[in-house]
Amino acid sequence: MECIFCRIVAGTAAARLIYEDDLIIAFHDIKPAAPVHVLIIPKKHIPSMNEIGQEDLAAISRIHNKVQVIANKLGIAGTGYRLVANCGADAGQVVPHLHYHLLGGKKLSLTH
Ligand code: 5GP
Ligand code: ZN
Repeated sequence: MECIFCRIVAGTAAARLIYEDDLIIAFHDIKPAAPVHVLIIPKKHIPSMNEIGQEDLAAISRIHNKVQVIANKLGIAGTGYRLVANCGADAGQVVPHLHYHLLGGKKLSLTH
């Protein structure tokens, strides 16, 4: 298995998990860009937003349904946060497994 995030899902690569259910997992980013930086991903390997299909909408909606739970667990539900996904080269997507960055714990600028 080449995809690092698939390996985290499978448990063959280490990560600091913060949330898991049947469709999604969330874990701390290895190189945090904010005091709180967690990645929320579908367990299914979807390369990017360009490849989201009808059959994936349960996982995508689950991410939006659980972000408040994850933010609450991380202590940033009240102070606020940003959920962002990069798609493709111009957005700087590096890992080709769909993921949403949950950022918080400080006042965020538009770009950071
Ligand atoms: P992208 O630039 O693709 O939107 O974001 C990829 C994110 O994944 C980056 O913030 C990077 O630090 C994080 N990342 C890359 N490899 C690993 C890893 O093996 N473990 C964890 N926890 N995060 C990773
Ligand atoms: Zn993958």
